[in-house]
Amino acid sequence: MSHLETDLLHQGEFCDKQYNSISTPIYQTATFHSEGPDSNPEYKYSRYSNPTRKALEDSLNALEGGFQAFATTSGNAAIHLVLTLLKSGDHVICGKEVHGGTHLLIKDLMGKFGVEATFLDLQDIAAVKASVKTNTRIIWVETPTNPLLKTVDIAAMASIARHAKAWCVVDNTLMTPFWQRPMDFGADIVVYSSTKYLNGHSDVISGAVVAKTEHIANQLQYWVSLLGVAESPTDAWLVLRGMKTLPQRLKVHAYNTEHIVDFLVNCPYVKNVHYPGLADASQWELFNKQQKSFGGIVCFEVDLDALDLNTFIKSLEYFKFSHSSGGTISNISYPWSTSHNCLNEDVRRSAGVTPGLLRLSPGLEHYDDLIKDLQRAFNLAAKECVLV
Ligand SMILES: *Cc1c(COP(=O)(O)O)cnc(C)c1O
Repeated sequence: MSHLETDLLHQGEFCDKQYNSISTPIYQTATFHSEGPDSNPEYKYSRYSNPTRKALEDSLNALEGGFQAFATTSGNAAIHLVLTLLKSGDHVICGKEVHGGTHLLIKDLMGKFGVEATFLDLQDIAAVKASVKTNTRIIWVETPTNPLLKTVDIAAMASIARHAKAWCVVDNTLMTPFWQRPMDFGADIVVYSSTKYLNGHSDVISGAVVAKTEHIANQLQYWVSLLGVAESPTDAWLVLRGMKTLPQRLKVHAYNTEHIVDFLVNCPYVKNVHYPGLADASQWELFNKQQKSFGGIVCFEVDLDALDLNTFIKSLEYFKFSHSSGGTISNISYPWSTSHNCLNEDVRRSAGVTPGLLRLSPGLEHYDDLIKDLQRAFNLAAKECVLV
């Protein structure tokens, strides 16, 4: 294998045999005709498989070190697809700080079909071991966690899963294979919202599942074809194109984030900054083993007595208030009322989502402009009683 920068440009890509185009064509077709009933062409119907989608899947699979990848219509569709591996009476262990949709699909959708779930802090390895039951089939990991960005030990989770004859699933959306390869630490399945960094341009909703073994892949292939959750050729092409610049984009996202963290830790309106680079030393060994960067997201808690949160958000020019992350344009979100608002208040608070918590996903602007933007908004939103 060459360096990832090189592989991303060459893996999975294939030229059309007719004209030798350098870019993978978009095979925008519902079906493929064949000679007749006795022939068995590679592609039959785009709900099952499609050459453009296959190029994306092969690229992602090679980067991740899996057996087979599946590109889906959204990150949530990818999560749902993995959950089809379960049956009534099974049990899932899931981190309590995960994407809100993951929590609800496990609790509400799978709950309807008789799947039990335990949500807990996966940094507490003893508690995870203690919560394993004879019917545990999946340990669902998100690391760094969302939104507090704590590091979960993938190898420890995979080892507990292996002993329980369960699968270790890792949602690798925030790290991507450039910074973290969960299968190197024993994960059986990796899940993505490629809406975020993989595509990276905020112009497509998309997801993916990578399976480590043929056994898992065969089951997923069955369900992906049947459910109709496979990604459209055009959306797959957009993700494939976005991924070509993944390493270059990620380096800038991480660099900008580091500068913004330096600014936030010295800011009088900020009570608490959550960023892996600020974690206490006990985390560092795990961190160095598992991931290659502190990432491109930072969360912080503002002092609501000193700052008007609404004015702060509305005063920002470059940080757009929206529901996503990982795009070229900087994003600010408010987990309390957006990504985590579907959870009840107790669950939110226990996952560290408080009314003063904000999340930044710095884009590719110059960090200097981003810091000035934050400073200006802090000044405008400062409550007067604090200024005097
Ligand atoms: C956004 C997100 C999802 C859901 O992905 P969609 O593409 O919005 O369906 C899942 N997991 C994580 C970690 C996410 O950030």
